[in-house]
Parts: sequence; structure tokens; C-alpha cells
Amino acid sequence: MGVLTTKVLTGNWGVEGSHTLAVYRERGGYSALEKALAMEPGAITEEVLASGLRGRGGAGFPTGRKWSFVPAAERRGGKPVYLICNADESEPGTFKDRFCIWNDPHLLIEGCLIACRAIDSKAAYIYLRGEFKYVKTRLDQALAEARAAGLVGAGSRHGIEIHTHLGAGAYICGEETGLISSLEGGRGQPKLKPPFPAVEGAWGCPTVVNNVETLQVVPWIINNGGAAYKAMGTERSPGTKLFSVSGHVEHPGVYEIDLGLPMRDLIEQVCGGVRGGWENLKAVIPGGSSVPVMTRDEVERASMDYESINEVAGSYLGSGGMIVMDQSVDMVRALTNLLRFYAHESCGQCTPCREGVGWMYQVLQRLDAGVATENDLATLKDLADNIHSRTICFFGASAAMPVQSFLKKFRGEFMDRIERAAGALAVPPTAGRHEALAK
Ligand code: SF4
Repeated sequence: MGVLTTKVLTGNWGVEGSHTLAVYRERGGYSALEKALAMEPGAITEEVLASGLRGRGGAGFPTGRKWSFVPAAERRGGKPVYLICNADESEPGTFKDRFCIWNDPHLLIEGCLIACRAIDSKAAYIYLRGEFKYVKTRLDQALAEARAAGLVGAGSRHGIEIHTHLGAGAYICGEETGLISSLEGGRGQPKLKPPFPAVEGAWGCPTVVNNVETLQVVPWIINNGGAAYKAMGTERSPGTKLFSVSGHVEHPGVYEIDLGLPMRDLIEQVCGGVRGGWENLKAVIPGGSSVPVMTRDEVERASMDYESINEVAGSYLGSGGMIVMDQSVDMVRALTNLLRFYAHESCGQCTPCREGVGWMYQVLQRLDAGVATENDLATLKDLADNIHSRTICFFGASAAMPVQSFLKKFRGEFMDRIERAAGALAVPPTAGRHEALAK
């Protein structure tokens, strides 16, 4: 298959002034909004359902279905409906949404307006990661232009307002219920579901939370039809998707490709190949740091779609944040580094996560320092197995899955560390431990 059928998301990238209203309009911008305003809200949702678009934040839930969960007006008891755009992009390895907003802020505004029309909302909130101050500035400028042109807010035909909100840099605010708590002014702590936000979300009202990339696809679907979108990609993973590729490839960056492209083609044809050649590839984390790691053999057999990565490697497409690692990577140290992040970012509400993730990090530090035993390895696995699926939100699993997969697929490196440590302890006191470790 080809790399990309049509640029759905990146058509305006690289065009001078692409962030301005004038250039966006010159290139056909806001025509989908015009069309959507002439459609019944239900018809917009039907079109998105027909496209097969799946949420691009990580979970891959069908977008049209999510919208359809919002109760009809007669069952809402007069409550308003809110749209929240999740721009709290914080997953290590994922860096696409900031490019989406920076290069094409009006595409996000148009996507938000159409989504609001579909779910009968008069207010959208774009929640940006705390470090995205510069992105917010550009987005606010675009919003000001759109407002002045009567495209947003009280002066527009539809009366839909869009607000921007900057978080405070907590990873867990990327989880939708944590994000809502933070937006409401509370601590950014996730809540048990149900109730799901579509029924009871921000300020107790029905709320749809969609990722930036997801919302930016919507104008294309309205302009070209759901069937045209579904014709791209694969049967169960339709459309195109952005991947942020980092690590040991010749050309790291953000790329739009058709879903279903072989993973090796993405690395070799699009990203210029692995540093030092294909044989130098050791591992790939395919969808942001939370998902299980893949071996080179698995990479060779997998395609970039939701199903293939899971079937081949038990991993996930996730957010599309792909980290490529060559043979120089020390897997023990790489995992220790990842767990340092998770131990720091746990919100602390549930015991398995609060205590367990920090404990996993401590064990990994021992492993990395060369003072761990095989019992520590068993403890690490036991901890990961007991955290997964026993917490309020998915964060626990997000910290456990890398540990489980690294231990399973690269166990030799962990055992090697332990054996070298045991050997070091066995040497006479006159020989330095570091000398022994270096052998
Ligand atoms: Fe907080 Fe972790 Fe529990 Fe999620 S799993 S609610 S991050 S303590």
C-alpha cells in the first residue's frame, strides 16, 4: 500500500501563514462549518459514524458513538452540554497535537464548532498542557480572528463559544475525568466510571471529551463524506493518522500516513531508516510510553493499525507516539527512566498505584545500580501484575504494561544485570565492584 492517500490533517502544514484566518479561508477553511450548519445535528453524527473515525488520543473509541451517548435534550433536565478538546498532550514519546494546533489552529476551531453542533453544545473548552503556553498564544490569536469575523461566539450565527484553558503540567490531567476535575477548579484526580462524562461530566453536565487530532479530522469528513474517509486505511482502522516518531531513526518527526502501513515501511520509507541500519534495531514502543514494547521481529510483522499491533505483539497503537530504540539502548535503564516518570506522576488516590508504582521504580533503581537479586525481579513482576486493572483509572495499567513487557521480552538483559551484580559481590574485596561489573 502507499504511504498516504490524502492529507487529511497536514494539508496546510508548511504553507506560509497557515495559522491565519486569511490563509485558512483561501485554502477552503470553514466550508465544512457552513455545510454542517445546514445539516441536522444527528446527520453530522451519522456522517462521523459512517467514517469509522476512532479517537486519536489513545483509546481508539469510535468518535460518532461517543457523541451519540449524549442524552437527548428532553432527557437532560435543562442541563447544557459541553465539548472539551483534550490538548493535554503529556505522554512520553507523543508530540503531535502541538504541531496540529501550531500549524493549523483554525482547523481545530472548525472541528470544535462542528462537533458542538452535532452534540447540541454552545460551549467548548480547549484544555492545553501547562507547558503549551506558546501554543495557547497562537490558538488564542486564531480564536480572536475567528470571533472578529463572526465565526465564533455571541456574534456568530450559531452562538457557540470556545474557551482555552492552560493546565498546570500534571500528566494525569490528560485522563478525561482528571481533566474535567482540573477544569472545574479542583484537583486533577480521575474519577471512577460510570457515570461516563457523556452523561455526567463537567459541572455535572453531559460532556464529550475529544482529542485534538480527532476534532481536526471532522471538517474533512463533513466536506468529503464519511464513506470517503472509510475508504482509506483498513477496514477496522479507517483513515489516516499522525505518528510522532522519535529515537534512533534518521528523520524523527510527525508524519501522517494511511493506517495499515507496515511498521517497517514507516520506519524505513518515511523516517529514513534506523540509525546504523535495520539490523541495529532493538525495540520499538509503538504508541506512547504506556504501551507494551515490541521486539524487532514483532516490528517486522506488524502494521500501523489498531488490530495488527495488538495481534502481533499484544501492544497498542495508542496515541501514535513511537519510540525507536537501537542496540545501544540499555533496556534496564530505559525502563527505570520510564518508571521514574510514572512514579512522579501518580495522583496518589489509589494504593496500588501510589505505593506500587513508586515501589517498582525503587526495585528498578536497584537493578540499574547492579545491586538487585533474582527475588527483586520476581517482586517487580508481582507488583506490575497486581497494579494492572486494580486502580481507579488506566494510569496503573499504563505504568504496569511497560514493566511486564520489558521483563517478558528482554528478560535476558535484566538477568544479565543480576548475574553481573552477583559476580561482582563474589570478587575479592581488593577488586573494585565497578571493575567486576565492566567485565
Ligand atoms: Fe490516581 Fe494512579 Fe489511581 Fe489513576 S491509578 S486515580 S493516577 S492513583
